[in-house]
Amino acid sequence: MFIGHYAVGLAAKSIAPRAPLWTLVGASQFLDLGFSTLIMTGAESYRVDSSLPGNPFVLNIPWTHSLLMALVWSAVATGLARAFRMPLKVALVVGAVVFSHWILDFISHRPDLAFYPGGDPVLGLGFWNLPVPEMALEVGLLAVGGGIWVARREDFRQTSWPAILYLAFLVALAILFALPAPPPENAIFTGVSGLILFLFVTGIAWPVDRSWRPASK
Ligand SMILES: [Zn+2]
Repeated sequence: MFIGHYAVGLAAKSIAPRAPLWTLVGASQFLDLGFSTLIMTGAESYRVDSSLPGNPFVLNIPWTHSLLMALVWSAVATGLARAFRMPLKVALVVGAVVFSHWILDFISHRPDLAFYPGGDPVLGLGFWNLPVPEMALEVGLLAVGGGIWVARREDFRQTSWPAILYLAFLVALAILFALPAPPPENAIFTGVSGLILFLFVTGIAWPVDRSWRPASK
């Protein structure tokens, strides 16, 4: 799951309009930001199995994606949001968005998610094995979450076109990653490029969030 995660972050902006959009977008990929970091240290790892249908990654991700750790990271994100003086409701939404990542990964991943670090990886419905429906699910989620977000922006006199460009950019990224290409075997390369990508998508949410329409006279 990639762009489907962002759907939750964008839709959450309608529940917590005071939350900065970049925070919600970053929260939706918090676990994968952790994964990109930990594969460079060796604490988590992956290997490529090109015989698999769809996503070719076989993942060892106990510290970022076990159920227990996903709950821990959600609590950490809530605490961080509170530390940055966000209201409790906003902080709880940020934590819930972090945990939404795990739920969507549970749907898409093959059983590579454990209940806790060190436990057997047994959780995952394996929607990755059906790449076309999986991509349709992600685009559908983005259409719904993005649609809610764009509609809500109207209430705050925000222009729609930066939001629509942002959604188009995410769909373009998804198409780019769906094109046939040899999957990266080098963990440092995967980690660095993952961090750059996730931080870039998070960073450009900041100007998108600040595009107000001029007040009508
Ligand atoms: Zn993930």
